[in-house]
Amino acid sequence: MPITVVGSIAYDAVKTPFGERERMLGGAAVHFALAASFFEEVRVVGPVGEDFGEGELDVLRRRGVDVSDIERIAGGKTFFWRGEYGWDLNSRETLATELGVFEGFQPKLSAGSRASEVLFLANIQPDLQSEVRAQLPEARFVALDSMNLWIDIARDALLEAIRGVDCLILNDAELRQLTGKPNLVSAAREILSWREASSEAPAADGHASSPGGGPSVVVAKQGEYGAALVTTDGFFALPAYPMESVIDPTGAGDTFAGGFVGYIAAHPDEPLSDELLRRAMAHGTALASFNVEEFGTERVERLTGDEIHARVEELRAITQFSGAPLTLRG
Ligand code: AMP
Repeated sequence: MPITVVGSIAYDAVKTPFGERERMLGGAAVHFALAASFFEEVRVVGPVGEDFGEGELDVLRRRGVDVSDIERIAGGKTFFWRGEYGWDLNSRETLATELGVFEGFQPKLSAGSRASEVLFLANIQPDLQSEVRAQLPEARFVALDSMNLWIDIARDALLEAIRGVDCLILNDAELRQLTGKPNLVSAAREILSWREASSEAPAADGHASSPGGGPSVVVAKQGEYGAALVTTDGFFALPAYPMESVIDPTGAGDTFAGGFVGYIAAHPDEPLSDELLRRAMAHGTALASFNVEEFGTERVERLTGDEIHARVEELRAITQFSGAPLTLRG
């Protein structure tokens, strides 16, 4: 099922203990699209400024991503984000966020982008996410990511956007911030209860989306500790792939989402079971592990399908253990 994604398309300035880049291609929609492009056709929706280079668009085009709904705003400035990481790469400081062309942007999706059956609302102002959601009323699977900034300054708009999706993907700290619940599982259960409280029943194929319903799938990203999946049926968690060297975690969450949503989109005939979601988690985790090996999009740009398959297999091997019944001392 083709995927449409809306979210930031950015220039990032990033400093980590291992180096820095002053102006590199970034943005949530970009990281997502590159990862998801290994699984399905991807169309990116969003504005860029006059300063955005053709070379950056070519990075997406080379992966077969449809960029025809990326609108270049005359006289506008591309979204810009500056962040810095310390030795603990799990926490970072945002030094600047300049919305630029996203301020006042009104998305008008082409017929092609509206026809996608899968929609990813990557991190950006929640009202913009809702506007795009409204233009794909028939989408079969809709997922949303956000961040602490929008929980802080646009909470009501974010809650409204979340009510229109099937799957919420957030950092664990943001899940707790959003729900006021002290731990991950209770926070995720709280979000799932919003759907249970609504009158909308899930469709038989489990893929139909739910404007007014709310998520039936919650994914908590936990940085270098991996990701957890909570659904009405169960719980699953994977560690991050163990890396000896992490250079730049920027975009890991969006790359995870691209692998996760991309894998689901590539299985249109399978019901949205926990079994499918677990495999999707493994693919998201594998993709994210490549992203952190180099700055920005540098590693994923030259990633191959074989490398992804191999890493998913390694992840499977390191997360299995055998049942070994032992009579315990009473
Ligand atoms: P991640 O590391 O997965 O959380 O995503 C990092 C990407 O998110 C960077 O490439 C930034 O350009 C983008 N980003 C940072 N802050 C925001 C924001 N407030 N809204 C949208 N995108 C953002």
